[in-house]
Amino acid sequence: MDCDLTGKTALVSGSGRGMGRASAEELARNGADVVINDIDEAVAEETAADIRDLGVDAIGVPADVSDEAEVAAMVETATDELGSVDVLVNNAGVGDAGPFLDEEYDGTFELNLDVHLYGALNCTREVVDGMVEQGYGKVINFTSIHTKNGVGMSPAYDVAKYSLLGLTKSLALELGREGIRVNAVAPGWANTRLTEGFSDAVTEQILDNNPLGRFAEPEEVADVVAFLAAPASDYVNGHELRVDGGQVPIDSWRLDS
Ligand code: ADP
Repeated sequence: MDCDLTGKTALVSGSGRGMGRASAEELARNGADVVINDIDEAVAEETAADIRDLGVDAIGVPADVSDEAEVAAMVETATDELGSVDVLVNNAGVGDAGPFLDEEYDGTFELNLDVHLYGALNCTREVVDGMVEQGYGKVINFTSIHTKNGVGMSPAYDVAKYSLLGLTKSLALELGREGIRVNAVAPGWANTRLTEGFSDAVTEQILDNNPLGRFAEPEEVADVVAFLAAPASDYVNGHELRVDGGQVPIDSWRLDS
């Protein structure tokens, strides 16, 4: 299976930590030079430095993906330093969502759509011309267990991730004609700072509904991202690939609220 990414440049949004970081590391292990974006400058720089130890070029570029101007500047820096982007992974995300009936969470629809949908759109817009020019590219969007059937008590997150799935399907149809494959990876719950914050009751409910009985390691999600980025998956387009251990969605992850 050809997973070689030598000579390719990958940009991974929100890759200062968690599944984004693990994905950037795996892409680098397969030979790609990587652009480590994060809204948090310190973790972006730190991750880039660690990845350079793997023997590839890596730069940390802080930017808020929901800000068009910041994304444009980020892609300009990336292109100047590492060449045009061949692989874009839209991973940056926020976990801030709560019940529809709780007014405290009214503003979370805007936040979730800004980061997950518009963040992915901004990044895709900025890299797409280069991909069209070379007639080849890979865009991988992070959807979620939330696009399996919704997950209760987090409508803003559900809506944002379903909209990103819609963008994936639609752009796959249009951009496939240009040689650009657009797919989604849909993780379930993984060992990241989000799940670290879950109460025992929430963790138990999730694991009771997971055939494998455990959370994913970020590296297990990263392996699938690397596959979707690689030549080995060149005939995969418009697909949402689930990496959730067969997780059954739960109807409330806010048992502790
Ligand atoms: P996950 O469980 O998905 O791995 P994390 O919270 O560990 O989630 O990682 C998400 C990353 O996305 C964080 O490093 C966070 O700083 C980053 N991030 C959040 N919002 C933005 C944004 N607007 N622009 C860029 N990066 C962001």
